[in-house]
Formats: sequence, structure tokens, C-alpha cells
Amino acid sequence: MIRANNNYSKLKASYLFSDIAKRVNDYQLKNPEAHIIRLGIGDVTKALAPAVIKGFHDGVDEMANDATFRGYGPEQGYAFLREKIAKNDFQDRGADISADEIFVSDGAKCDTGNFQELFAKDIKVAIPDPVYPAYLDTNVMAGRTGEYEAGRYNGIFYMECLKENQFLPKLPDERVDLIYLCFPNNPTGSTITKNQLAEWVGYAKENGSLILFDAAYESFIRDEALPKTIYEIGGAKEVAVEFRSFSKTAGFTGTRCGFTVVPKECMIFNSKGEKISLHALWSRRQSTKFNGVSYPVQKAAEAVYSKEGKVQVRQQIDYYLNNADIISKTIASIGLDYVGGKNSPYIWIDSSGRDSWEFFDLLLTKASVVCTPGAGFGRCGKDYIRISAFNSLENVTLAMERLKKALT
Ligand code: PLP
Repeated sequence: MIRANNNYSKLKASYLFSDIAKRVNDYQLKNPEAHIIRLGIGDVTKALAPAVIKGFHDGVDEMANDATFRGYGPEQGYAFLREKIAKNDFQDRGADISADEIFVSDGAKCDTGNFQELFAKDIKVAIPDPVYPAYLDTNVMAGRTGEYEAGRYNGIFYMECLKENQFLPKLPDERVDLIYLCFPNNPTGSTITKNQLAEWVGYAKENGSLILFDAAYESFIRDEALPKTIYEIGGAKEVAVEFRSFSKTAGFTGTRCGFTVVPKECMIFNSKGEKISLHALWSRRQSTKFNGVSYPVQKAAEAVYSKEGKVQVRQQIDYYLNNADIISKTIASIGLDYVGGKNSPYIWIDSSGRDSWEFFDLLLTKASVVCTPGAGFGRCGKDYIRISAFNSLENVTLAMERLKKALT
């Protein structure tokens, strides 16, 4: 008899966004005339920028000709893309990352989910609460946790991000091995300063820990004082891996491209205490299980770094940031507490005493606006909702008018 991986039975039955979809569908069926505005799931709405489309088309045209056709590409990604990434995203900001430390992938979800495979089953894992669900669920699948009880998996070190600590995790008061950090944060929209991030790098060095730094929303940072990469912090190359994505930066959620930086200095240890190169391990893993991102997609990603591409992509982010500003101002005018909305597409709103699903239902039924209930991101999210700025200006403006009406 073929038996299932028991760890999957520990996972909570359904995924947050399928629960939301079900409630929204039920509401639409009962109210067929309702014009629902979706500010829930963090998916972009603007078309790929013209420069990106040109790169994409050029790549496709090359595939149409025997002389320029490409078959399997390098698993780590084409050098033309890795070199642009290294220069523009890291070296130009004073971060000493080279092209061969970059692994191009089909997105940050796969990489943040897969990376934990490289570590022993009995390591201590620290995860923020609330959190982007993939970090936690993939550790559950790998058997690194006990059962799910009272909103928590046994065996995980939860780092609570609440109003009291400005939604920033505190340094663990015990030793942990693997630390997940995400800034600008999903779901709270909070950011971290260089000094605060330097404390995490210091902790990791002192404790022999590794930081998995998810910078999927880096392009929303407009405050030049904030770090755009963890490698702006001295010594981070020894203790941190960084995940990036073109999804939110350049509208690649459906096109699929991202990358992971694994510095050559980063070491982990085998059971005898001997050093192992994390870079070599990830390279081994990727070359075994991954066959690279399609050539036209890598050409499209390369175009993000062209002169026109940079301008166009920045305009798209500015558009979403303007939406985020409109949302933040409306929420403030209603008198609700919130964080985020600056240097981030997410606004994390205190539902002022209501349970997050109750608040979700209220906004759906009274304003036909879809948000994301904070409870879906962890126990500490139960009194919050997340509103995302990924929609048209017209829809965001209309949604905010409806929200104001429903809540004041
Ligand atoms: N990391 C965070 C924090 C995210 O919010 C998301 C997507 O919403 C991802 C990673 C996944 O990005 P990708 O589309 O590159 O898989």
C-alpha cells in the first residue's frame, strides 16, 4: 500500500486564498449585480512595461530561427541576466555580490519554499507571525514541526510582530538556526532600518544561524535610508541568503521570474561540524531538480534593467504607491490604526476589536470590497486585515469611497 507523507496531514485544511475565493463567489452568486473590487490577493494588475514586452518578443523571435534557437539553458540562469542583476541590484548599492552568486528561478515562492530542503530536519526554525504562509507550510511538509494546536505548530519559534514592537520581530531570546525575515513585509507592510537589520546579522554571526531574507517587495522602497538588500549590511554575506522576485517589481506574477542570492562565503555544517558551502549545495539542488527559466522570460527580465525598462518599471511602482497612499489616507480618515502603505504595497489595518474574518465579511457585504483577513497569516493577524494597492486607481478610489461610507 502506498502511504502518504504524514506531515501533509498536519497542514491546515485549506489555503487562505481559496477560503477567500469561496466567500467572494458565494457573495457574488447571491448578489449578481454587485461590482466587487478585489484588494485582497497581492497580484499586480498593470500590463508588462513596453521595454519588457520588447525583450520578451525578441527572445521569442530568436526561438523561431534555427540559427538563434536555444534549447536547455544553464540551470543557474543566463549570464546576461545574472550580470545585470549583480550590477544594478547589488554592486551599484555598494553590495559586493557577483553574477555567479545569483541563481535565476521561476519566482520567489519556489525558492523560499525549496531552500529549507538543504537543512537538517531537527534544526530550530524562527518564523515571524504574521507571515507569508509558504515559509511555514514548507517546513511543516518537511516534518520540522509537531501538530497544529491553538493556531501554532509545535516546534517552531514564532516571532510575534505586533503594534508593541512596531511589527518588527524581536531577536530570539534563545538560540535558533534558521531565521526567516521579509522586508518590506508581507503582510504588514512594515520596513526595517539598516541598524535594525545589522542587529539580525550580528545575532546570526554570534549564534551560527542563517537568515533567509525575502526582499520580494524591495522595489517599493523609496526612502533611500532603508536597506534594499541585506548585503548593504557588513558581514551579511556570511550569514544570509536573499530572495528576489520580478513579480511585484515588474509585473511578472504570470510571467514567472525571480532569483536567489547565495554568497560564496555562506557556510553551513555537517554532522561532524565540518563546513559546507551553501552555494555548492543550492547549486547541486537546483541542477538536479530545476531546468532553468525559459529564454524569452530571461530576456524580458533583462529588459527590466535597460534604460527605458528602469523608467517604465519605476512608473508602475509609483502608480501602486500612489494607490497605497490613497488607501492609507482613507483608513486614517476613518480613524482606524494602520501600518504600511509607505515603501510597500500593503496596508495592515487594525480591525478595532473585530475578528479579521468578521471584518472581511463586513467589507465584502457592505462595500463589495475584498481584503485579506489577517488570521490567514498567523495568530497575530487575527485582529487585522490587509489591503493591497494592486488595482487600478479608479477601483482603489471607488473602493475607498465605499469603505468610508460603510465604516463612518
Ligand atoms: N515572497 C513574498 C513575501 C510574497 O509576498 C510573494 C508573493 O506574493 C512571494 C515571495 C512570491 O513571489 P513569486 O511570484 O516570485 O513567486
